[in-house]
Amino acid sequence: MLSRRSLFARLAAAGGALLTARFARAERHRPGGPAASGERAPAILKHSLVAPCVAGSANADPEACERALALMEQGADSLDAVVEGVSLVEDDPEKGGVGLGGLPNERGVLQLDASVMHGPTHEAGAVASLERVRNAAKVALKVCWETDHVLLVGPGALEFARMHGFEEQDLLTDKARKAWLRWKQRLSDEDDWFEPGFKKGSHGIEEPEGERVLGTIHLSGCNAKGEVSGVTSTSGLAWKIPGRVGDSPIIGAGLYVRGTVGSAGATGRGEAAIIAGGSQAVVDAMARGLHPTDACLEAVDRTLEMNRKPYLWNEDGTPAFQVSYYAVDVKGRAGGASIQGGRMAVADRKGSRRVDMAQRFGR
Ligand code: ASP
Repeated sequence: MLSRRSLFARLAAAGGALLTARFARAERHRPGGPAASGERAPAILKHSLVAPCVAGSANADPEACERALALMEQGADSLDAVVEGVSLVEDDPEKGGVGLGGLPNERGVLQLDASVMHGPTHEAGAVASLERVRNAAKVALKVCWETDHVLLVGPGALEFARMHGFEEQDLLTDKARKAWLRWKQRLSDEDDWFEPGFKKGSHGIEEPEGERVLGTIHLSGCNAKGEVSGVTSTSGLAWKIPGRVGDSPIIGAGLYVRGTVGSAGATGRGEAAIIAGGSQAVVDAMARGLHPTDACLEAVDRTLEMNRKPYLWNEDGTPAFQVSYYAVDVKGRAGGASIQGGRMAVADRKGSRRVDMAQRFGR
């Protein structure tokens, strides 16, 4: 006969992992979410005082940057702050490529991707192919704090957002619908769609060929305690195949954070950032002591090295695609680099501004 004590010891040995997992889950659900979790940050983070700073894609300037920075100055958790900032851009129908006013897939339906990651705890959450809910970053934040999962997709992500009371709406603005329609009309001269401006019995009016539009917002932030977090949100590649998921909701590709190192995110050709593991490459380089700008440049080089599809390269050997990386480290330093130049947003106590990024191939 086993005594109760030895029976318990055996059960504990067998179910140790399960017990630990349950305990971890209960801990994560403590009221207060991120702020409470921040209390578990390593002591080294609690005592390092830095000047708060945020950095990200140019479309984060000024609204998202200013809001995130103001919240961090008031003592907010770094993840709450950057998500609040990005939500302002998701709410704005005039800011294309993100949330309301984003560009739809080939069927004219918006499918949003977003991810969040919290430095002090290394918790992450993401949604992909989310329809009808504009604040994809806030839904990703709920996935982070309210579930044991990292990524919810499609109808499951929508159902989850509904359960949490997110507002549903048609996200396709008139401007985005017209852009999509122009693309569809131009697809082929062998279908029944007339070219834009074409009237029966007249000649079509020539219009400049529309560009394949990209638009994503990334924001990384470091608060006064040296706590770093990041968020990336997008409607993805315009006119994409329904269900296509880019880098933005993929932890390691469109976003990566390590609490003792820094936060990084990506925009541009998502497939290339996924193949390169781009954002993780930035953080790994910062962990080796590189400044955020140099770390981003190293990730750019890796992205170029790993993406060899012939149509991604011009005849003269220059790349025909764009990927940009943005980063902040735990010292509150910001930096960014991209394949073909461009600007990024940086904000600190001197205010929010756009600055040139480091580049490998100028235009
Ligand atoms: N990276 C995004 C994607 O591939 C697009 C973008 O940055 O504009 O979905």
